[in-house]
Amino acid sequence: MEKPNYRKIEGEIARALSRDRVSSSPEVKITHGYDGSMLRGKPDLVVWPETTDEVSAIMKIAYANGVPVIARGAASGLSGGSVPESGGIVVDFLKMNGILDIDPISGTSMVQPGALVDDLQAALAPHGMFYPPDPGSSAFSTIGGNIAENAGGMLAVKYGVTRDSILALTCVLADGTIINTGSRAHKCVSGFDLTRLICGSEGMLALITEACVKILPLPKFTSTILAHFATESDALDAAALVCAEGVIPRALEFIDGKCIDVLISQNTNAPIDRDARALILCETDGATSDSVDAEMAIATTILEKCGAGTIARAKNEDERANIWNARKTLSSALFNVAPVKISEDICVPRARLAEFVDNTRFEAEKRELFYINYGHVGDGNLHSTIMLADRKPETLAPAEELVEFIFKLAIKLGGTISGEHGIGITKRKFLHLEVGKREIELMKEIKKLFDPKGILNPGKQFE
Ligand SMILES: Cc1cc2nc3c(=O)[nH]c(=O)nc-3n(C[C@H](O)[C@H](O)[C@H](O)COP(=O)(O)OP(=O)(O)OC[C@H]3O[C@@H](n4cnc5c(N)ncnc54)[C@H](O)[C@@H]3O)c2cc1C
Repeated sequence: MEKPNYRKIEGEIARALSRDRVSSSPEVKITHGYDGSMLRGKPDLVVWPETTDEVSAIMKIAYANGVPVIARGAASGLSGGSVPESGGIVVDFLKMNGILDIDPISGTSMVQPGALVDDLQAALAPHGMFYPPDPGSSAFSTIGGNIAENAGGMLAVKYGVTRDSILALTCVLADGTIINTGSRAHKCVSGFDLTRLICGSEGMLALITEACVKILPLPKFTSTILAHFATESDALDAAALVCAEGVIPRALEFIDGKCIDVLISQNTNAPIDRDARALILCETDGATSDSVDAEMAIATTILEKCGAGTIARAKNEDERANIWNARKTLSSALFNVAPVKISEDICVPRARLAEFVDNTRFEAEKRELFYINYGHVGDGNLHSTIMLADRKPETLAPAEELVEFIFKLAIKLGGTISGEHGIGITKRKFLHLEVGKREIELMKEIKKLFDPKGILNPGKQFE
């Protein structure tokens, strides 16, 4: 096949946008070649559109030349989704970061894809509103990246994942056609649900250029506790029971014993007892302090019944921030243990969490691996993580064996290999373990309808 003439394509894009918003300089290519998975590729061009029409113009040029296009938000993805492994054009959405309107009465906000999640929250707060999805990366990940990965996060147990907060999308198809899906109303069943299909499609079906998101009134009161447990299985069983017995907390997070050691060694300000071997972070919210306290009392009773020892309660916003800071910085703090992190995001039915952790820990100990679990257990979602000293094949081999065991067990227990980080590159060789042959064929056929030449984020998800 003839090699694409990227010099010519660069000229065409420069004419359609402007010379300073397309680049093929070596440093720009290097800085747009990786994501949080630490996998690397190298694009041929990087472009910074500012409008939907510009994205459409880029796609028309890419389509005519048959070259790959890879959307990029903040590149915080952990499965290699925005890595341009076969070169092509990286569309960097960071200049399309506007919050176009906020309508508290209708409970909607129009947002461009490059807006950071926390910037949207900051814009909504003066209106007394918030956007429910709350990934651990909210300070630096984009709305577009969150939609494309269908990101989960801390509040998903009560408020759902990103998909549940997206009402309508403006997108650009592979051939440059602009489409509008969904409606600004909170309910819409007209035709097939293209909005939900595009959520989680990892930049493989369309480029998202505008989103109408659902917003909710900020809860006036919250109550936050850290419950300490002597064993991981007691903590996990307790978390499952909290949800089963009538209280759906706003957040329900698990932190295992080794993670506690890491947080203690970081001199965390959170009220963590170093002898505990597991923690449950539970937070309730609501419109009155009485209702919030009543829900927390129910949750606390269940946690204690299941073996919780000390229960530390945040007495003010500073103490609450200390607890959340410990949870939100845990992922980065783990790099103090070792430089290489393999972090999965399996999800199992809540009742099977303890069984999953017991079995995988046993397999990790057999292989002498530093293995930990933490995550959003209210959804059954765990970040099963292996820390390694290096990437030498002999170091990686037992870790890769454990990853395969983790995936197979998650599926066997009725769960999934990816609750929120997506399949991307890192998990594509495992997709067939979970999704049937005909189902994968259907997905490929859908991809072909949206993208007949296969230029949108090629090679992701499917082997
Ligand atoms: C410390 C840390 C904590 C994290 N915590 C969570 C968590 O709690 N929950 C969670 O779900 N994830 C979490 N993540 C993973 C990551 O932040 C999410 O996957 C996030 O959604 C990626 O957003 P991004 O803007 O960085 O997108 P990128 O990584 O740039 O891209 C992700 C995917 O989206 C596509 N994409 C980006 N923009 C568009 C667009 N406009 N149109 C079409 N496709 C597009 C890309 O092609 C790629 O496939 C965490 C990551 C880190 C580093």
